[in-house]
Amino acid sequence: MTKSIVDDTISEKSANNQTNWEWVLGTMIINSDKFLAYVSGKMCKGLTQKLLILFGTSCWLLLSSSVFALEEKSSALKQVNAQVYVAFQKTALRFNDSNVIIIEGDDSLVIVDANDNLENARMLVEEVKALSERLGSKPIEYVINTHWHSDHTLANAIYKQSFPQIRAFVGHQNLPELIENKTIPQLEEKIKRYIVAIEKAEKELAAGTEDKELAQKIKNAKQLVAEFKQLDIPKPTITFEHSMLLDFKGPKIELLNFGRAHTEGDTIVYLPEQKLLLSGDLFDQLPYAGHGYPSEWLHTLKSIEKLDFDSVVPGHGALQKGKVRLNAIISLLEDALDQAKSALNDKVPQEDFIKSIDLQVYKERLGPLDATGERAFGHFIPGFFERAYQEVNGEIK
Ligand SMILES: [Zn+2]
Repeated sequence: MTKSIVDDTISEKSANNQTNWEWVLGTMIINSDKFLAYVSGKMCKGLTQKLLILFGTSCWLLLSSSVFALEEKSSALKQVNAQVYVAFQKTALRFNDSNVIIIEGDDSLVIVDANDNLENARMLVEEVKALSERLGSKPIEYVINTHWHSDHTLANAIYKQSFPQIRAFVGHQNLPELIENKTIPQLEEKIKRYIVAIEKAEKELAAGTEDKELAQKIKNAKQLVAEFKQLDIPKPTITFEHSMLLDFKGPKIELLNFGRAHTEGDTIVYLPEQKLLLSGDLFDQLPYAGHGYPSEWLHTLKSIEKLDFDSVVPGHGALQKGKVRLNAIISLLEDALDQAKSALNDKVPQEDFIKSIDLQVYKERLGPLDATGERAFGHFIPGFFERAYQEVNGEIK
């Protein structure tokens, strides 16, 4: 079903077309993430689930990207139907960064979501430019962000620089404020963690180190910090509350929101004529629950279940067929809420409740899991039970 329109030779070509400077910078950026993971690994290791929720998935991103970033390259665009192309993340990177979707209209294109890794975003921009030429020089008209998490919004800044014809950034009505109050402060926190890591590494360097590349890594990390500091993330100027039909010549694009779910401002992109759903992070194989609202999330998924679709491009992971994954996450949310209610009835403290969950059941239901999935499972799935407990307990309003 999945056919690549931009084959490897074209992908290689777009990579080779980058100037040496860009290529070197890209390598340096990836190396810098590796550097931060190396220096800050100890800080991340000690974090509890609560802190992970507080910081989002940043430690997960740092540690896992350190393992895979150098070996893996960003995905080439794959065509999933006549008018939709997807840059799927490589399997080993699927929890690090999001899939990006391109929808072709009569005269223009729409991009859905924006990566966290700026180097990946730059490579994707080259691929999108090549695709645009191939389709008859169609400009990017809209960028839709499914939610505020940085792995869906950060590269808005790169898109804005690269595609001056963009008519508008589009998202849920809560998204502009969420980018201002969550995405940007998290980026600022990330910058601070980089600075702390750089200071530590400089001390190691001064004390004498076996790492021959440390001086270069420090230099690279400083450059990345400088880039982060200048990053200006555009916010949506076209927004909606419950639903909106995008003003677009091409396939019908409906934007939907049924309440708070994965975040308090999710956008579901529905292409009814194509029976295709772009689901953001609402029912990935292993969704992140740390900013979620379990009962409204459940309501949202049950509303989505009523829509007529047969394929789903999730925010993370491979193309989904049918509603199997949707139903698996519906059951997970139902279980988390039911179990949290009985635990609170029995006055079981949160910590004991979390310890009592039989996670193996969910590992089997949500699997099969590769090594990356195994690690993600432990980070993401207990969070559903924590959030459900906190919601039933009235801690989450
Ligand atoms: Zn997310």
